[in-house]
Amino acid sequence: YTGKSGTQLLTENLQKLYVKDYQSIPVVVNDSVSVYDAIVTMFLEDVGTLFVVDHSSLLAGVLSRKDLLRASIGNQDLSTLPVNIIMTRMPNVTMCQKDDLLIDVAQKLIEKQIDAMPVVKPNENGYEVTGRITKTNLTKAFLALAKDD
Ligand code: ADP
Repeated sequence: YTGKSGTQLLTENLQKLYVKDYQSIPVVVNDSVSVYDAIVTMFLEDVGTLFVVDHSSLLAGVLSRKDLLRASIGNQDLSTLPVNIIMTRMPNVTMCQKDDLLIDVAQKLIEKQIDAMPVVKPNENGYEVTGRITKTNLTKAFLALAKDD
């Protein structure tokens, strides 16, 4: 018996969970696609958040369900409205990297009141999107901790 409290053990285990082990495949759209096409992609790919990339495949923005719903209210023509008009754009996108701790991602999601963030790899010109972390990934990690002991 180690003499450690339950909370100490939980904290130790949380410090071992990394983004790279729980991330999902990102679903990205180009910044020139229409809001209509983004809605279709969101349904077909079964995700709640889309990441938007520019012509060099670098992160340009984020689209949530509510962003698309908001754009759909009113009489705009969704098939001619490009997503870059309505997305949350860089540098206001909250992101993480594969070697970040999951607990830090959880903190950011709660702080910013968002559901998901892109996992990125920085390069000279911007950020390449390599993964996706959502509240579902965090819930899976939480379950994995429970099954551990
Ligand atoms: P929803 O709006 O569908 O409830 P979110 O809570 O994730 O989904 O998104 C709330 C707002 O925050 C949206 O306007 C969205 O564009 C923005 N957002 C979502 N994810 C991020 C992120 N990783 N970084 C910055 N803004 C984001």
